[in-house]
Amino acid sequence: MPVSLLGASEIRRLAADLDVTPTKKLGQNFVVDANTVRKIVQAAKVVASDRVVEIGPGLGSLTLAILETGASVLAVEIDHRLAARLPETAAAHGVPADRLSVIDADALQVRELPGAPEVLVANLPYNVSVPVLLHFLETFPFLQRGVVMVQAEVGERLAAPPGSKVYGAPSVKAAWYGPWRLAGTVSRQVFWPVPNVDSVLVGFERDAEPRGDEELRRRTFAIVDAAFQQRRKMLRQALSSVLGGSAAAASEALEAAGIDPTLRGEQLSIDDFARIARG
Ligand code: SAM
Repeated sequence: MPVSLLGASEIRRLAADLDVTPTKKLGQNFVVDANTVRKIVQAAKVVASDRVVEIGPGLGSLTLAILETGASVLAVEIDHRLAARLPETAAAHGVPADRLSVIDADALQVRELPGAPEVLVANLPYNVSVPVLLHFLETFPFLQRGVVMVQAEVGERLAAPPGSKVYGAPSVKAAWYGPWRLAGTVSRQVFWPVPNVDSVLVGFERDAEPRGDEELRRRTFAIVDAAFQQRRKMLRQALSSVLGGSAAAASEALEAAGIDPTLRGEQLSIDDFARIARG
């Protein structure tokens, strides 16, 4: 039996049945359009042999579109009612039981993903999208690639190159793991309820070789945070607290890394920041 997708009226019926009124607090805007969930799965290039992890499956619309390809899904959902109902919904739509597992938990707290899925596909809860992405990339080295839907401003920031107006700490930290790209826009009208922000898809691919070990990552991220906390200041001032305690010591450390101390953080790439951290 082929996998079938959820339709708009079935989604509302399911929510009513579960007594779920979508909440802002959990970023619950459910996709009620089959073309959109298929578009996300296509952008992620999911194939039958993939093991996919989905954060926030909700009522299951994107989950079923992933499962339609033949891939298996591990879904992490914080709302107990939604987590409990998902296997039943999947079974009713033709999904063999062994292709879906559900973890009833806060994705920010998850430290293990059974089966080591290599692909992340999600319509992320917008209030925690960046922390959740960074937590997953940091904690699960087997995650190789992914496509996620996020608020447009967040997606633009994640994919921003150095020097652009929206380039910030999330852009640099995300780039630690590999390149990011914008992978499409999504209309507000495909959600229930309709959100008051625009959405985009962003994709990433993890670099073949990690940029450095955990110690270097922590040090790099601390320098990134300091640089962007005072983004209008020159690096020699913004980084004085993390590089030797004075502007003079920071200048010396920056020059040793081949970086002009009068630059600002927004002009530096992840490689520049990592070079400063290496010392
Ligand atoms: N994937 C579904 C869809 O596209 O229709 C739902 C997407 S909705 C934007 C976000 C989902 O993430 C909701 O189901 C919400 O309950 C869940 N969620 C919110 N915060 C979460 C967290 N910290 N960990 C796991 N799931 C979370």
